[in-house]
Amino acid sequence: MIPFAVKRLLYYAYQKGMTKMFGCIFCQIASHEKPSTLYYEDEQCVALRDIHPHSPMHILVVPRKHLASLNDITAEDEPLLGHLVAVAARIAKEKGTAASGFRIVINTNADGGQTVFHLHLHVMGGRRMTWPPG
Ligand code: AMP
Ligand code: ZN
Repeated sequence: MIPFAVKRLLYYAYQKGMTKMFGCIFCQIASHEKPSTLYYEDEQCVALRDIHPHSPMHILVVPRKHLASLNDITAEDEPLLGHLVAVAARIAKEKGTAASGFRIVINTNADGGQTVFHLHLHVMGGRRMTWPPG
């Protein structure tokens, strides 16, 4: 049986290694090196269609700055996080989901269900969400 601390260490090395070895997909999308369906961009972030949408509206808001997850933010990133949430809310409104409702999700690390280790907000709407999430 592998001790919990060793598992965490291996998982951390895996995340960092994947990003280093293959490049970060969201950094590449944000810099237009890789194609995506971009809805919006400004100097701080881009918003794109999720490649495997789980709702009629499923948009990712991605900061241009590479932060692996919420665990990596510092005080200097707080204005950026506010901006990302504001952009997410504006997109939800533009997509006509403000009145019906929408959900903003930030998955963090393994238990949070994170699979891409560049911070991003999921903006989902257009159907009734369930609670609690699975
Ligand atoms: P998470 O599991 O919270 O890390 O979310 C990662 C999301 O990124 C998933 O919903 C994927 O479908 C999405 N995704 C992965 N690669 C791409 C890509 N190249 N373009 C758009 N969305 C992507
Ligand atoms: Zn990145």
